[in-house]
Amino acid sequence: MRTPSPQDASTVMDILRRTYVTHPMHEAFKHDSFQMLVAVVLSQRATDAMTIPVAKNLFTLAPTPQKLANLPVKTLENMVKPIGFYHAKATALQKLSHALIAKHNGKVPSTEVDLLALPQVGRKTANIMLTLFFNTPQIAVDVHVHRIAHRLGWTNTKTPEETERALTKLIPRQYIHDVNRVFVRHGQDICRPLHPWCSRCPIARYCKRVGVVSPR
Ligand code: SF4
Repeated sequence: MRTPSPQDASTVMDILRRTYVTHPMHEAFKHDSFQMLVAVVLSQRATDAMTIPVAKNLFTLAPTPQKLANLPVKTLENMVKPIGFYHAKATALQKLSHALIAKHNGKVPSTEVDLLALPQVGRKTANIMLTLFFNTPQIAVDVHVHRIAHRLGWTNTKTPEETERALTKLIPRQYIHDVNRVFVRHGQDICRPLHPWCSRCPIARYCKRVGVVSPR
């Protein structure tokens, strides 16, 4: 199999950027770093379609760390209940809000080290925040990014960290900002985990379809 080049990656990224202009979650919360951070934490093990209305409803009562930290736990649990794991997620959001207040005066920090030190913030969440708010584009690797990069033949990696390193080497810098947004949309709409829509895929001619057994 031919080794992918930065030119291959640029061609694919150009097509995906034209195909997926926006990302619903980014659009919904891009004006407020705290609300985006909370939405990303809420979206763990939930779809964006489920997360967005729940998060919007939550921000009517608790748009800031101070207000979220002061919300009664039962109220918070009831508000996040529709997306599941409500007890764990309510606890996580209150810990996160308390940490922001105690360590950062209620502001979302702008460095990788400070973000990763927050409760509930792993590499994927930190990279999303750095890319969207702090002008430090990073590749946030979730299941969609990991799967599609592998199918394209761009990576042969086991962990999200390895995938992040491989993609950062391959994809030219001017596209890094958009990788998570376009790959997540592509993974939700076309390159689904089971039975991907290869017949409708705008990047099919550039894809090695590694490990794809039953495309549609
Ligand atoms: S051709 Fe198929 S496997 Fe490759 S990116 Fe498109 S949908 Fe995914």
